[in-house]
Parts: sequence; structure tokens; C-alpha cells
Amino acid sequence: MPGLKIAVFLDGCFWHGCKVYPPMVKKNAEFWVAKIERNRARDQKAVDHLKSIGWTVLRFWEHESPEDVVEAIISARSYACEATAKTPAPLQALQQNRPGSPQTQPAALCMPFELTVA
Ligand SMILES: [Zn+2]
Repeated sequence: MPGLKIAVFLDGCFWHGCKVYPPMVKKNAEFWVAKIERNRARDQKAVDHLKSIGWTVLRFWEHESPEDVVEAIISARSYACEATAKTPAPLQALQQNRPGSPQTQPAALCMPFELTVA
């Protein structure tokens, strides 16, 4: 959701080294451990970067229930929408008229909508 600066990551348990369902590898264990460690380091770097430029970062694991994930996304969105609504009007106009940014407008993202879980 670029307009609201919300980034959502859904990490696979295996590839991102989940602690609840740790990767089970018998062959080439060292290779996989190193690979997953690299993935984790890269994840952290990406998250740090996004946070440093003012994004809200939501991270979920593959094993989490879709309902919980959706709920967390919706509440983050409500929070961001409230924050956007509190932004003084001139600043909002400035942001919306920024040339060369094909971003979705926050106002449009804050319209009520139905989110269904498959
Ligand atoms: Zn997991």
C-alpha cells in the first residue's frame, strides 16, 4: 500500500528461518543454514530501510492464520488512515500533487472496503 506507506511481508517458514517451524534439512545442512541466515539478514536490512523512510512494516509467517494477518493489516491501515486524515490539508495537497508519483491516493485507500479471506 504505497499511498499509506504500509509494507506487508509474508515470509515462508522454510526460507526465512521460522522459529516455530524450524527448517528441517538433512542433506547439506550447512549450506541451507547459511542460505537461510543470508535471507534473514536481507529481510532485516529491507525492514530497517523501509522503517528508516517512514514506512510501517508488517511481517507475517506462512504459518499464521489468514484471519490474524488480515486483521493486523486492517488495523494498520485504519491507523495510517487516521494519521493521514490528521495531516494538515495544504500538506496533503502537496503530497498528492507531487509530480511523477503514480502512487495510489491515500484517500482512495481509506475508503471502506471488504476484504475476504480465501
Ligand atoms: Zn512458521
